[in-house]
Amino acid sequence: MADFDTDLFVIGGGSGGVRAARIASGYGVRVMLAEEYRVGGTCVIRGCVPKKLLVYASRFFHEFEDAAGFGWTVPAPTFDWATLIANKDKEIARLEAAYTANLTRSNVAIVKSRAVLEDAHTVRLLADDRRVRAKHILIATGGSPGMGTGIAGIEHVISSNEAFHLTELPRRILIQGGGYIAVEFACIFAGLGSEVTLVYRGENILRGFDDDVRAHLRAEMERRGIRVICKRIVEAVEPVDHGLCVELSDHDDIIVDKVMFATGRRPNITGLGLEAAGVRINEKNAVAVDEFSRTSVPHIYAVGDVTDRVALTPVAIREGHAFADTVFGGKPVAVDHTNVPTAVFSEPEVGVIGLTETQAREQLARVDIYQAVFRPMKATLSGRDTRMFQKLIVDGLSGRVVGCHLVGEGAGELIQVLGIAVQMGATKADFDATMAVHPTAAEELVTMRTATASYVREAAE
Ligand SMILES: Cc1cc2nc3c(=O)[nH]c(=O)nc-3n(C[C@H](O)[C@H](O)[C@H](O)COP(=O)(O)OP(=O)(O)OC[C@H]3O[C@@H](n4cnc5c(N)ncnc54)[C@H](O)[C@@H]3O)c2cc1C
Repeated sequence: MADFDTDLFVIGGGSGGVRAARIASGYGVRVMLAEEYRVGGTCVIRGCVPKKLLVYASRFFHEFEDAAGFGWTVPAPTFDWATLIANKDKEIARLEAAYTANLTRSNVAIVKSRAVLEDAHTVRLLADDRRVRAKHILIATGGSPGMGTGIAGIEHVISSNEAFHLTELPRRILIQGGGYIAVEFACIFAGLGSEVTLVYRGENILRGFDDDVRAHLRAEMERRGIRVICKRIVEAVEPVDHGLCVELSDHDDIIVDKVMFATGRRPNITGLGLEAAGVRINEKNAVAVDEFSRTSVPHIYAVGDVTDRVALTPVAIREGHAFADTVFGGKPVAVDHTNVPTAVFSEPEVGVIGLTETQAREQLARVDIYQAVFRPMKATLSGRDTRMFQKLIVDGLSGRVVGCHLVGEGAGELIQVLGIAVQMGATKADFDATMAVHPTAAEELVTMRTATASYVREAAE
């Protein structure tokens, strides 16, 4: 070991890297961590956290409107983008400092530099052209927005990174993408008062989610004035007087003030020296790992978005923790990537866990669906035209709830708790045996008595 400068070198100070570094250090090993931008990574600096702050800001608009039906007179509210961004930046700086302090308190040596692999045990720090020999290396470099290729005028297009730092709220914005980031930003900008067009090349937004969730959310977004255009792509973006002219694949032109792409994220592997270290990448251009996050080089591991398994913060954190337990704690832990609950912080919110109806019908012999669409109580007096959507997918043979899909207020909070029941293998009978909490929207989940549909898979011939 005398041969090595450190026992563990972590490349990347985001969700996965920070957790791994702190837990490893707790096991008494020497840990160094390099971060080329800001400690905290995507989630804290330009992902989940700033996004959720913007989501909160965008929802006041409807609250002001809804208040009238409950007797409030609210003077025409005005909104100041600069104040929101300044306050958001202050909070992000506070969090960055807290992350840095926690790492330092945990005896992790932080290096503010880009790090690249020179060989399987050597990390080169570009800031001061230093080399560090490490016994183990963890690649936790995350991902970045993929902007596509061959689009004329791509230099006028922003990604979510820049959206957090716009100097003013765009009056008109076109967002290309159908994933959760595109959908969330469409709702944020619409809530803050922008005119929003969402363009997506697929059949419908939120590919991979349950089809009923996709249809329900799209209708709700359209009801809130967001223009959703599917089966089209942006072909060119050109500056014109007072804005940008966006040419779509059907040759329709749309004039807006900003164009944002949220068309997927790519693992950060470029120029990392993976080849020099002998680390293999897979067909998704992500670092290939086994169930213990070990790469093709036995003492080099990778966690989080750079491995492109489930690109979410809690998953990166769990993988980072499991890595440290496995390598330094003597407790091999493989992370289970099934049944990951997830939320889309759209307006209204989405919360899901488990199988979609399509997946369940492909995988199970018998499937029972319990579905409810109803007007939430708050909407009666507010007069808002909105519906809550709830769907339970049940294995018809065992009675287990294998999927749960919600669209409506609080869906993200609800799915966290429902996730425990689904993870524990709760059956529909367990849901039914649970007393309702009245009056709530969630009580519907334990009072849906009759299946709205049942499917029996035909035996393969
Ligand atoms: C707009 C947006 C919203 C999101 N919202 C959510 C959400 O609501 N919920 C959720 O669970 N997830 C959300 N995510 C995803 C979440 O942010 C990521 O899954 C998570 O941050 C991944 O953690 P990570 O450790 O793998 O990588 P990151 O957090 O990306 O950290 C990687 C770090 O490595 C650094 N780095 C890269 N290369 C090098 C190098 N060579 N040398 C030194 N440093 C390097 C980067 O600067 C970065 O700080 C969102 C993402 C985005 C973009």
